[in-house]
Amino acid sequence: MGDVNEVVIIGSGPAGLTAAIYAARAGLEPLVIEGYGAGGQLMITTDVENYPGFPDGVQGPEMMQMFRAQAERFGTRFITADVSRVDFSERPLRMWVGDDEHAANAVIVSTGASARWLGIEGETRLMGRGVSACATCDGFFFKDKPVVVVGGGDTAMEEALFLTRMCESVTIIHRRDEFRASAIMARRVLENPKITVRWNAVVEDVEGEEVVTGVQVRDVVTGEEDVIPAAAMFVAIGHQPNTSLFEGLLDMDGEGYLRTAPESTYTNIDGVFACGDVQDTVYRQAVTAAGSGCMAAIDAERWLEAQEAGAGDHAGAGASAD
Ligand code: NDP
Repeated sequence: MGDVNEVVIIGSGPAGLTAAIYAARAGLEPLVIEGYGAGGQLMITTDVENYPGFPDGVQGPEMMQMFRAQAERFGTRFITADVSRVDFSERPLRMWVGDDEHAANAVIVSTGASARWLGIEGETRLMGRGVSACATCDGFFFKDKPVVVVGGGDTAMEEALFLTRMCESVTIIHRRDEFRASAIMARRVLENPKITVRWNAVVEDVEGEEVVTGVQVRDVVTGEEDVIPAAAMFVAIGHQPNTSLFEGLLDMDGEGYLRTAPESTYTNIDGVFACGDVQDTVYRQAVTAAGSGCMAAIDAERWLEAQEAGAGDHAGAGASAD
């Protein structure tokens, strides 16, 4: 099994790396198992213009490199691989990367969430060049241009409404004749003169050589196909939290997001903390993920300190199982 780490952090987006910076500066010598997709969702973003401290913006991958360098500077260790299995049933907490076992007194889970994609050719080819899953991040680049939003849930409504502030027009493409979104959000969308809805329509492909120029749609009722001219396609068909490793161990909501106790990062297992998008169904921003990563490191540090002081189970704030 080898030495027992004070803290192992699983995942290396803004939440995990901020937790690493704080844990490292607290002398906990964290080990970050960063995953093969190290850096998280920002690695597929281009310019980040809403992260405070970068008045001229910063490229997503470059920002994650800076986060990583800062964590490394204070003694964070990294393993670039995915955790394949965990066992949190006894102390120390244990996890495996293939056959290699790692043990820890505390674990911070920051495995993030992944945007769901349509799975069509043009989507991959034009990713970051008009295809996006984040209007808050990328909407500004399509100022005064026509754009498309795919999806019929609250995220699609929110993205579409946000985009009306800067874009010329917004077309929502939804596969049914009724939104899944809450009534109030749907009403706001339907009352907005800048938004048009294409009901019963699915995206067949995205057009454009270098950048998006249009979206091919098919009417699922009539079978008719046409192209909606657009400079961007925002895919808002939901997110998938990366929590399959923790099924049956950590409390999750119906969608698979980890549950944390209010105003903390405590999960239902003592010594296991969760931060970032893996437990955030509301904000999902780099800066909020970083903030919760800081919280997780502080929670872990205090929890470990209490264990050492013999205070026993300090984790009274453990998440409820409801
Ligand atoms: P949802 O799962 O609620 O909605 C996803 C939407 O995408 C559905 O309309 C679905 O269609 C559509 N969809 C799914 N897969 C495909 C596909 N392959 N092709 C085309 N369309 C597809 O996800 P959201 O991200 O919108 O919301 C997640 C949760 O977060 C919800 O509980 C929501 O209420 C909440 N939320 C709340 C907000 C708020 O209150 N301000 C803001 C944002 C999210 P169909 O309807 O046919 O299944």
